[in-house]
Amino acid sequence: MQIERMCISCRSVYKINQLWRFVLELDGIVNFDLFLNLDGRGAYVCKKKECLQQAIYKKSFTRAFKKQILGIRVSSGENTHT
Ligand SMILES: [Zn+2]
Repeated sequence: MQIERMCISCRSVYKINQLWRFVLELDGIVNFDLFLNLDGRGAYVCKKKECLQQAIYKKSFTRAFKKQILGIRVSSGENTHT
């Protein structure tokens, strides 16, 4: 049986392989956990670009982590500030 998690953006439940995982770093940056091997509290967004954009736009990460988010690291070295 596969683990299921809720997308923080559209609030639908998906199997874990249909979701992207994000981890909040100590520096307030949300890191895209591409290889599902980062420690820390995770938040999940389903694998749709629109959903990820909505999550950033609607500050779903702030709600999910209950912390101020200073930026989002989507790929290596690239920061998208909200
Ligand atoms: Zn979604």
